[in-house]
Amino acid sequence: MGGSNFGLNLTGLNADTCTVVQECDASEAEICTTAGPKKHPSPRLGIQVVKSPFISLSHSSIIFTGIMYFIKTPGWLKKVYGSYVWDVPVTEKKIFLTFDDGPHPVATPFVLEQLKRYNARATFFCIGKNVLAEQALYRQLQEEGHRIGNHTNNHLNGWRTDTVTYISNVAQASRSIETDLFRPPYGRITKKQGNLLRQKGFRIIMWDVLSGDFDQSLAPEQCLANVLRKTTAGSIIVFHDSQKAFKNLRYALPEVLKQFSADGFTFEVLFK
Ligand SMILES: [Zn+2]
Repeated sequence: MGGSNFGLNLTGLNADTCTVVQECDASEAEICTTAGPKKHPSPRLGIQVVKSPFISLSHSSIIFTGIMYFIKTPGWLKKVYGSYVWDVPVTEKKIFLTFDDGPHPVATPFVLEQLKRYNARATFFCIGKNVLAEQALYRQLQEEGHRIGNHTNNHLNGWRTDTVTYISNVAQASRSIETDLFRPPYGRITKKQGNLLRQKGFRIIMWDVLSGDFDQSLAPEQCLANVLRKTTAGSIIVFHDSQKAFKNLRYALPEVLKQFSADGFTFEVLFK
């Protein structure tokens, strides 16, 4: 580690494996057994934490199937990647729900129904190929006052995709998704990819709170607790309107809407 790799470096503790921050599904999670700049030569967003029996995790992070992810994005990470959006400075009790990977024929209508009950607005980071498959749902998102973001055309992992291919995949998604918001799948994007997209006018949207709804080993109650404990005014929260996350989403989302509404919060779109 070190060199061009940003991140938490705990190599002094008899490392055997390093893991990275994760946004989406566990099945595509990556475990690096040889850490560092040789494998990933360009600066990248990611947290590399060496697993060790000597490390105790705080309530801000969870390990599943060998992968660690932060529920609450640490302040130092937001500072290192200050050109990306992690939360929204607010003076009122506003929170910003986001839903990745849709539109999905089951999960998206469920989300829309729940949002409507609380007069909530949210931002949906859609995959281009899913928009083409679910055009009526895509129109419904817009008609009901929600905001759309680009999440690539094929859910590409920026670290494993060359820059030309990555940028062209985002452009392909742009043919069906008109927006200036972009979220990299898995939160994995190289500095070069991020810079090029910003030059093209995109804001790169990350997050403050990861619900963990994608984590199959996580109980729905824990997914809910993650959001209730870590959300503050201005938080950008990640859920997924996807098949994989639906078990946790269907339990956690209605409670999040109910409890924060009761506490006087409203749910807004990003950068209206
Ligand atoms: Zn995604």
